[in-house]
Amino acid sequence: MSDTTTTTPIRIAIIGGGIAGATLANTLFRIPNLDVQVFEAAPTFSERGAAVGLAGDAQAALNHAIPSSKELLAKAGAVSMNSTRLIIGSGLQAGTIIADLHENAENPGLILHRASLLRELLAPLSESILHANKKLESIKENKDGSLSITFKDGTTNQVDAVIGADGIFSSVRNHVLGDAAAEHAASPAGFWDCRVMVPYEKAKTTLGEEYFDQDRQYGWIGDQAFVMHDIAESRTMVQCVISAVEKESPEGRKIKLTREYLNEVLKGWLGRTIGDGAIELILDQEDPHAYSQYDHKSTPTYSKGRVCIIGDAAHATSPWQGAGVGQAFEDAVVLKTVFEHVLSPHDIVAAFKAYDALRRPRGQQVIDSSRGTGLILTGTAEGVGLEVAKMRPALGPRWAFLHLDLDEYKKQAVEKFEDFKGQ
Ligand SMILES: Cc1cc2nc3c(=O)[nH]c(=O)nc-3n(C[C@H](O)[C@H](O)[C@H](O)COP(=O)(O)OP(=O)(O)OC[C@H]3O[C@@H](n4cnc5c(N)ncnc54)[C@H](O)[C@@H]3O)c2cc1C
Repeated sequence: MSDTTTTTPIRIAIIGGGIAGATLANTLFRIPNLDVQVFEAAPTFSERGAAVGLAGDAQAALNHAIPSSKELLAKAGAVSMNSTRLIIGSGLQAGTIIADLHENAENPGLILHRASLLRELLAPLSESILHANKKLESIKENKDGSLSITFKDGTTNQVDAVIGADGIFSSVRNHVLGDAAAEHAASPAGFWDCRVMVPYEKAKTTLGEEYFDQDRQYGWIGDQAFVMHDIAESRTMVQCVISAVEKESPEGRKIKLTREYLNEVLKGWLGRTIGDGAIELILDQEDPHAYSQYDHKSTPTYSKGRVCIIGDAAHATSPWQGAGVGQAFEDAVVLKTVFEHVLSPHDIVAAFKAYDALRRPRGQQVIDSSRGTGLILTGTAEGVGLEVAKMRPALGPRWAFLHLDLDEYKKQAVEKFEDFKGQ
C-alpha cells in the first residue's frame, strides 16, 4: 500500500488519439480513481491508411485490455482469414505455394479497416474526455511532481502523468529521451510500401477470381518486392499492397508512383494477373504515393519520471511482422495492470519504470525481427533468396515468439511495480 493514498482522481493525459492512444484510453477510463483525458493534434479523431491485420496473439492482448473485445472487433467489420498464403510471385518458381501460415488457428488472423477499428475503440469514451485540435508542444515538470502540458493553441493543463501515444515522430518521446532523442530517432528500415482499399468486386475482377474462393490473406514474394491482398470491412473492401526493397530513402519519405516506376519494380511479375492487377489497383487512386518504412533501431528508455511512451512513439516497427498494433495492445495491458495498483501520484514513477522494464526488450525484439522478416518476404535474405525449400524453414519460426502468456506477464508487471516502489 502507498503511504500517501489519495482520494482525488489521478489526472492522466494521453497525447495522441490513434489506435494506441484510443486503446489505452478505453482501458484506463474504467479504473475508478483515474481521470483520463486524450489530446489529439488533428482536427478530428481519425485514421488514415488502409487495413490492419491482427493475429491471434494481438486479439488475446486486446481481450485482456478491454471487455467485450470480440464484439468490438465484429462491429469494426473484422474479416477472419483462413490463412496467410505465401506464394512465389516472380521468376521460374512463380505460383509455387510456400506456406499457409496460421491455417486452422484457434484464433484466426483478422483484417480490419483502420478507421473502423479506431471508431469502435473510441465509441465508449465520453466526448468530454476527447480533445481534438490539441497539439502538444511542451511538458514541464513542476516542483510538486505534477506536470504542465502546453499545446500549440497556447493552453496549458496540469496533470499527474503524461502518456505519449503520438506516433513515430513523437514529441513526448523527445521529452523522455532528452539529449539522446536525435540519436534514437526513427530511421529508414530499408523498404517502401504503398496501399489502397478497393471495393471487393473490383479487386476480385482485377486480381483474379481464384484468389477469392475463400477469405485469405495472400502474400506474393518476388525479386526484391512483395505484393499482398486481404479482405476487410465485412467483406466489402479489399486491401492491396505493393512493397519493395529501398536502397535509399527519399527526403520526406514520400515516393510519387507512376506506371513506369511500378513496372520497373515488378518487372519479373508482369504478364501475371497478380503483378499487373496490383499495379492497376494501386494507380487507380488520387495522387498515388509510396512511403519509406521507418523504425526505431534502439530506445534507451520508455519512461522518464511521470512521463512514458507507448505504441509507435515507443516502438515503431516496419509492418512485416504485422505486429505493431498488437504491441500497442500489450502496452495497454501492462499499463492497465500497474495502474490498478497505483493509489496516488507518487506511485506513477514506479508504474512507468515497471512498464519500461517489461515492454522495452519485447518492443525492440519485434522491430528487429520485423526487418529480418522483410528481407525474407522480398526474396533478399542472405542464404534464402527466392528458393522455396529454404524459405519454408526460414519463415516457419518467425511468428512464434509473439505468443505470450498474458496472465504470467501481468503478474510480472505487478512484481516489477512493487520492486520499483520499494526502491
Ligand atoms: C504501412 C504500415 C502497415 C502496417 N500494418 C500493420 C498490420 O497489419 N498489423 C499491425 O499490427 N500493425 C501494422 N502496422 C503498425 C501499426 O499501424 C502501428 O503500430 C499503429 O497504427 C500505431 O498506432 P499509434 O497510435 O501508436 O500511432 P499513430 O497511428 O501514428 O497515432 C499517433 C496519433 O498522435 C497524434 N499526434 C502526433 N503528434 C501529436 C502531438 N504533438 N500532440 C497531440 N497529438 C499528436 C497523431 O495525429 C495521431 O493521431 C503497420 C504500419 C505501417 C506503417
